[in-house]
Amino acid sequence: MLNIKIEPAATLKTKPADNELGFGRYFTDHMFIMNYDEGQGWHDARIVPYGPIALDPSAMVFHYGQELFEGLKAYRCADGKIRLFRPDKNIERMNNTCRRMCVPEIPAEDALQAIKALVNYEKDWIPYSEGTSLYIRPFIIATEPHLGVHPAKNYLFIIILSPVGSYYAGGLNPVKIYIERDYVRCVKGGTGMAKCGGNYAASLSGQVKAAEKGCEQVLWLDGVERKYIDEVGAMNVFFVIDGKAVTPALDDGNILPGVTRASCIEMLRHLGYEVEERKISVDEIFAAHKEGKLDESFGTGTAAVISPVGQYIDGEEEIVINNGEIGEISQKLYDNITSIQWGKAEDPMGWTVVID
Ligand SMILES: *Cc1c(COP(=O)(O)O)cnc(C)c1O
Repeated sequence: MLNIKIEPAATLKTKPADNELGFGRYFTDHMFIMNYDEGQGWHDARIVPYGPIALDPSAMVFHYGQELFEGLKAYRCADGKIRLFRPDKNIERMNNTCRRMCVPEIPAEDALQAIKALVNYEKDWIPYSEGTSLYIRPFIIATEPHLGVHPAKNYLFIIILSPVGSYYAGGLNPVKIYIERDYVRCVKGGTGMAKCGGNYAASLSGQVKAAEKGCEQVLWLDGVERKYIDEVGAMNVFFVIDGKAVTPALDDGNILPGVTRASCIEMLRHLGYEVEERKISVDEIFAAHKEGKLDESFGTGTAAVISPVGQYIDGEEEIVINNGEIGEISQKLYDNITSIQWGKAEDPMGWTVVID
């Protein structure tokens, strides 16, 4: 059990209207902070006013990128209760990332206590409108003031909260995806399975290129053979081929194990669909499209839940999926998972955690 001290903000901000929220633009009045110092472990858990933090310019995070993060949401549900969606999965993944990045782990029960305490303290910030939620961003940075490449001796664990709008104010519009043939996001043995900021820094040039081609996201291929599909931007990816759902397997450690991905697989099986986790090549997708068997494709992630793909662009080649419209399985998954998240339906999987 953490002993969390609370320092209330002297003044509270004016909350934005639900229809102005967007994603990640507004932050609540308070944040959670906890320090780690070698020899002492994690200590001084506190909720303090949201604001800038002072760091030494030599803090190792600035130079060697020892940083990691998580992303999950709290929902204001139909019954008036506030629920988190599978926070245990995020905390488990955060500690897996910690091990990969040589960052000291945080006991799972302490991390959950911190998330719950902050969300509860800031609960007035959870928006009420349909499709809105409170995005939770826990992260850890190396703060040791030292130029030298080694695991740092000092860290900060911080949680910030951002009320977010409905991702699909204009409906679940399918996106256009650019297949990246030059840059790679990661390779086997790298940090693909870790949620660390460095992966995102490395992905920006591909993202910019995709935008220049009029695409919203990049389809990342495996870094070795450059033919198997890894992910779509910062989302996991699914295909429906001949009525069967397929998604890249996680075995090689180059794909981020999404909580939404796992939930989609479980939900699809619960609904009676067959799901395969295996290698999928771009060639297979284009061939399936040619034979008229590529029914649907969609990305999965906490922010959007399901993001239907309407088009893939590979150099001069281009395929349109399901006439650029959302498919039946994509819609069914979206409806089933979001009704559990917003407490509109029973939670047969036991995925949600009530905050009291
Ligand atoms: C966070 C993330 C995802 C999605 O994970 P969720 O837990 O479903 O939000 C997928 N790919 C990458 C690269 C990510 O960083």
